[in-house]
Amino acid sequence: MSQYYNSNRTRNLYDANSSDLFRLSRGRIDNFLNCPRCFYLDRKLGVAQPPGYPFNLNSAVDKLLKKEFDIHRANGTSHPLMNEYEIEAVPLAHEKIDEWRDSLRRGVTTQIDGTNVVITGGVDDVWVSPTGEFIIVDYKATSKDGDVTLDADWQIGYKRQMEIYQWLFRKNGFTVSPTGYFVYCNGNSDKEAFDGKLEFDIKILPYVGDDSWVERTVLDAIECLKSDDLPESGEDCDFCAYRKAAKEIEK
Ligand code: SF4
Repeated sequence: MSQYYNSNRTRNLYDANSSDLFRLSRGRIDNFLNCPRCFYLDRKLGVAQPPGYPFNLNSAVDKLLKKEFDIHRANGTSHPLMNEYEIEAVPLAHEKIDEWRDSLRRGVTTQIDGTNVVITGGVDDVWVSPTGEFIIVDYKATSKDGDVTLDADWQIGYKRQMEIYQWLFRKNGFTVSPTGYFVYCNGNSDKEAFDGKLEFDIKILPYVGDDSWVERTVLDAIECLKSDDLPESGEDCDFCAYRKAAKEIEK
């Protein structure tokens, strides 16, 4: 077993009777929507799917973008991309910005009434409009032919991510613009040679979020965890197809 995976985890399991707070990240809410069964196996019983391994190049792009926007945050100025896209805002300077960006240990959080569950999310950035409205921003990096868009079915996860962050900030009492932005970096692989450099085209894609589904979904996820019954599987899951096929052969 690799150092990254424990197939029988005994920590961070949901226990409705515990007085300890139980952190449920926005990514786990997404897992619940995709398949309640795997969500339950993971969060309640400690048997999770093997993780994806870190996308270090994407992380490097995120880190550099953060540094770049931080310069404008410190100066109270708009980034040139914001001017190009006529977005009237500046990167938010707030004492908690680093806490909100720390998805692993802190993040933006809200505890659900009557439960020990705390929903958490780590934003990439928050901008602020002249009227004080928060604007949620997410950085994305890819390398593909043609323009980046938000049109593919699988990008529903990006949209949900944005909507959960918008909900979390509203739960914390902030006014949040329904329009968030994806700062989308597309690595250009059409160059004559690599030459040790990867250049990116950067676009800002607006997205109008609707967080009306979030609260209900969070409550459903908690109910799922409280239940003693293993929930049904999601549909069209490649992992399940693999598990079934392997089980048949091993009989
Ligand atoms: S369908 Fe099966 S393998 Fe896929 S996420 Fe659900 S329980 Fe896990």
